[in-house]
Amino acid sequence: MSPAVLQVRDLRVSYRVRERGRHVRLRAVDGVSFTLAAGETLGIAGESGSGKSTLARALLRLVPADGGVVQFAGRSLLELGAGELRALRPRLQMIFQDPFASLDPHMRIGEIIAEPLQVMRLELDAAARDARVLAMMSRCGLTAGYAARYPHECSGGEAQRVGIARALVVEPEVLVCDEPISSLDASIRSQIANLLKDLQQQMRLSLLFIAHDLAAMRFSCDRVLVLYLGRVMEVATRDALFSAPRHPYTQALLQAVPIPDPRTTRARPRLRLEGEIPSPLSPPSGCVFRTRCPHAIERCAHEVPALRTVGASLVACHRAEELP
Ligand code: ATP
Ligand code: MG
Repeated sequence: MSPAVLQVRDLRVSYRVRERGRHVRLRAVDGVSFTLAAGETLGIAGESGSGKSTLARALLRLVPADGGVVQFAGRSLLELGAGELRALRPRLQMIFQDPFASLDPHMRIGEIIAEPLQVMRLELDAAARDARVLAMMSRCGLTAGYAARYPHECSGGEAQRVGIARALVVEPEVLVCDEPISSLDASIRSQIANLLKDLQQQMRLSLLFIAHDLAAMRFSCDRVLVLYLGRVMEVATRDALFSAPRHPYTQALLQAVPIPDPRTTRARPRLRLEGEIPSPLSPPSGCVFRTRCPHAIERCAHEVPALRTVGASLVACHRAEELP
C-alpha cells in the first residue's frame, strides 16, 4: 500500500450540550483510528448522527478534539499553533454537503474560487490568480462565463462544482468530502461523483468520502470505514466489504444497496436494521451496536469489542469469527 498521508489515532470529540437544565458532554466521535494512504479514497459510512461530519471537522480543526493524534505531513495536526495550521491549510481541504450553504451568496463565483488563493497563496498576483481560477473552473466543468454569476444563479450540481473548484484551486493533497452528492438530484449525482474521481486521479488527491449509505461508495472508494455512534465498526477494502461484510451493522447497511451481480454477493447475509440509533448522550454499554444487533450475547453488554483483524477486514465485533 502507498504511504499514509493521514494517520488518525484514538480521536475523540465531544460537544457540550444542555440536557434537562444541566450541561453534559455528548461524545460524537469516541476513539476513532484509521489511516489514509496517498492517492486513496477512503469512504466513511454510517447513519445520521454516527459522527461522520464531526470526524471530518475535527480532522481539519474546525471543531476542537478532546484527544487523540492526527498525523499529517509529518506533523501532529491537533497540536499545531494558529500560524503553523494556516501554513498547512492549503494542503488539507474540504467540501460540504449543501453547496449553497457553503458559498457566500453576495460573492460572484469567480471571487468565491479566488478567495482561498488570496488568503493562502500570497505570492500570486491578480493575473496569476485569475489564470488559476479559470483553469480550475474549466477542470470542474464550468465555463468562464460562470465567473460573473452569483451562487443563486447556479443549479445544485453547478454550485457543487464551484465548491469543488474552490477547495482544489489551492492544490491540496487531502480532500475531505462531507456527503458531496447526497443533496443533489439523482440524475447529477453520478456526474459529480465522476468529476471527483477524475480530479482525484489527475491531481493525485487522497480523498475522505463521507456518505450515509454504502451505495455511492461502491463506485468511488478503495476502502470503507463504517462508523456507528462515534465508533469504528469495520474497515475493509471495497471488495471485501461488499462481498463479505463482517460486522452485523455493515451487513445491515448493505441491505439498502442494490446488488449489481448477484453471483458475487450470493453469500451476503441478510439482516434488517430495526429501530433508531440510540442517543449518544447515553450510549449502550459494551458494544454500542448491541441494542440493534440480532446476534448480541451477554458479553456484548459488558465488554467493548476491540477493532481487530478478521479475514481481510478490521472488525469490532465479539462474534466476527463465528458469524456467517
Ligand atoms: P448526518 O449523516 O446527519 O450528517 P453525522 O454522521 O455527520 O450525521 P454528526 O453531525 O457528526 O453526525 O453528529 C454526531 C452527533 O453529534 C449527533 O448526535 C449530533 O446531534 C451531535 N452534534 C453534532 N454537531 C453538534 C453541535 N454543534 N453541538 C452539539 N451536538 C452536536
Ligand atoms: Mg454529517
